[in-house]
Amino acid sequence: MSNEEFRMERPQPLPSRNSAFYWEGAERGEFLGQRCGDCKTFRHPPRPMCPKCQSVHQEIIPLSGRGVVYSYMFPVHPQMPMFEYPLCCVLVDLDEGIRIFSNLYECDRADVKIGIPVEVFFEKTKGDKAVPVFRPAKEASK
Ligand SMILES: [Zn+2]
Repeated sequence: MSNEEFRMERPQPLPSRNSAFYWEGAERGEFLGQRCGDCKTFRHPPRPMCPKCQSVHQEIIPLSGRGVVYSYMFPVHPQMPMFEYPLCCVLVDLDEGIRIFSNLYECDRADVKIGIPVEVFFEKTKGDKAVPVFRPAKEASK
């Protein structure tokens, strides 16, 4: 049975107490980040304490949604029925200085390169939730 015959919806995110704001924002089409309330260092994935100054104060603020590809890969096997292949998995360095794992869409495989500017958009999942994913940016990142 080919993947096309057995398509499934992308699974919904499983928020933790620390990451709930991130996934709830994605559901509303907002790309939110966590920043230290004291030294203003961004951190991702979300966690209770700042790795730089050990503060437990935090701010949740909108991120630019813009960055560049730090690295990428195309998983080959085993193919999972909730994804279309070729599937591009990327590490994106956001303008805010944090690195995020996601998928890159709307880009031919040959055009995926380290350093290309990308921008966020949201992919719907099972349960009417959403996950942040990326596509090549229409304008270069700052
Ligand atoms: Zn801090």
